[in-house]
Amino acid sequence: MSAATATAPGTTAKQLPIADRHEVKRTVGRLFRSHRAQLAGIAVLHSVAAVAGLAGPFLMGRFIDEVTAGTTLARVNQIALILVGAVVVQAVVTRFAQRLSMVFGEQVFAELREEFMHTATRLPLSVVEKAGTGDLVARTTNDVNKLQHAVRFGVPRVLVCVVTIGLTLVASFLTDPLVALALLVGVPPIVVAVRWYLRRATPGYLRESAAYATVNGTITEAVEGARTTDALWLGSRLRRRLRGDLSEAFAAESYTLGLRLRLIPALDTAVAVAPVAAIVWGAWLVSQDVTTVGAVATIAFYAHQMGGPVFDLVFWLDELQVAAVALARVVGVGLVGPDRTASGEVPASDEVRAHEVRYAYREGHDVLHGVSVDLRPGERLAVVGPSGAGKSTLGRMLAGIHPPTGGTVTVGGVPLVDLPLEELRGQVALVTQEHHVFVGTLAENLQLADTGASEEALWEALEAVDARGWAAALPSGLATEVGSGGHPLSPAQAQQVALARLVLLDPHTLVLDEATSLLDPRAARHLERSLNAVLTGRTVVAIAHRLHTAHDADRVAVVDGGRITEIGPHDELVAAGGEYARLWRSWQAG
Ligand code: ADP
Repeated sequence: MSAATATAPGTTAKQLPIADRHEVKRTVGRLFRSHRAQLAGIAVLHSVAAVAGLAGPFLMGRFIDEVTAGTTLARVNQIALILVGAVVVQAVVTRFAQRLSMVFGEQVFAELREEFMHTATRLPLSVVEKAGTGDLVARTTNDVNKLQHAVRFGVPRVLVCVVTIGLTLVASFLTDPLVALALLVGVPPIVVAVRWYLRRATPGYLRESAAYATVNGTITEAVEGARTTDALWLGSRLRRRLRGDLSEAFAAESYTLGLRLRLIPALDTAVAVAPVAAIVWGAWLVSQDVTTVGAVATIAFYAHQMGGPVFDLVFWLDELQVAAVALARVVGVGLVGPDRTASGEVPASDEVRAHEVRYAYREGHDVLHGVSVDLRPGERLAVVGPSGAGKSTLGRMLAGIHPPTGGTVTVGGVPLVDLPLEELRGQVALVTQEHHVFVGTLAENLQLADTGASEEALWEALEAVDARGWAAALPSGLATEVGSGGHPLSPAQAQQVALARLVLLDPHTLVLDEATSLLDPRAARHLERSLNAVLTGRTVVAIAHRLHTAHDADRVAVVDGGRITEIGPHDELVAAGGEYARLWRSWQAG
């Protein structure tokens, strides 16, 4: 079973999938194929530069032989001039080759990053929640950074090294195949050392990345839940966990460092051996009169010249290994399957029905135990009950955020999870306390709900939520940059933007999860008007902590222990004298 299927959504596995070797190769192949012409250009230019670089040792060899045989000053000057010419050609061509390589690296990286953003922003929410945001954050930051370095510099560099080493070997054998045989002495130790290393490096770097993802997850959780941590005195437990995560990261990092510490001296020796072998073997061949001192000198220079690219190549193979691991994690995000498949059925009405709905965040631990409720079009249903009873979970089921583990939630006879996401949001939407203002213009923030919405429609939506006034007063109106680094919006304004988005989405059913409870009461009163404008004419499920909202609702559902224990109009429930009546009395008394 591949890594991708092992962590497919729907199982209890925590982390997002990691692409297997085959998938990574396919991605790299696809990227390279789409830049074929650029790659060929880079290879040709670097080949020209490498050939120009080979002229030096070759001319030096000729020089030695000619001086030994006795030559003229004019000939010496001629060789020197050609040498200078070769150096100039090498420098100029290298400049253009480098430029082309850099542009290639930047383009490939930009494409990768855009592709990643595209998939990351379309991940099913249920999958991200299961995997924890730490994993996704680690992939967006650590892994993309690792890729950045390798793609920008590594890929062009490896290409250059391979071309240079190949051409230098060819030039050596052309100069004198017998002397060039000495260069092969360096090959077995390099192959053995690199193979030994690469076999251990992949699991080592995978472990390192996973360890950092865990550290990230713990830190993100600690920051997001700082207040809870303080309130419950969980600080020392959290510190212990972080220390554990860090020692794992340290161990993983030490292991890969140990690998490098053994590889580098081995390579150093192998690279130093080749020129020495060429000279010793060549000297013997000269003594046997089968070659010239010049040829031996040329090949010794070549052997020496190859040391740099060989080292560079191994260094980048190592970095590319790291990048391949990072790429596997980045590509893995794209392997997350949808948590729903559109059946193509069209809802026959606006009626939302939950039938025997069960849900388990963790397999075998149901938090909803068969909840059934039919929403009447246009009604307002308040959901009340103790904390942890399953109210929010029920809300998420009714809004189609998660596919239920058992039972169905349908709209007009079609299961919510059989609708494409865009279609679903036009039917039922969930409104929570989290209102993020995205970096971009105010218009773009609103158009997230409806990409094709006209400027007029945007103003109407703002008007509907009582936000036209402040929006018109912004420096550039709808074109004002908002979000991080842009024009600051107050929390109430951010919430109004979210509500205006709902107006644009125009769903017939809204699930409100304590939408206004976190705001200060003055802002809340003002917002309530905006909210009421949005609610009018729609079916509303309000998950309520404050019972006065329940009192205003058409019906009240009491959720307790993952079940609806009572449901009916406020007055009837109070008269029935059950759990709700008790809650209501205690709330009034308080
Ligand atoms: P309520 O909204 O009534 O306070 P919830 O629906 O939030 O209740 O929670 C119901 C149960 O599900 C609780 O026991 C809670 O701990 C659990 N739960 C909620 N969200 C998650 C989650 N993301 N992962 C695991 N368990 C969860």
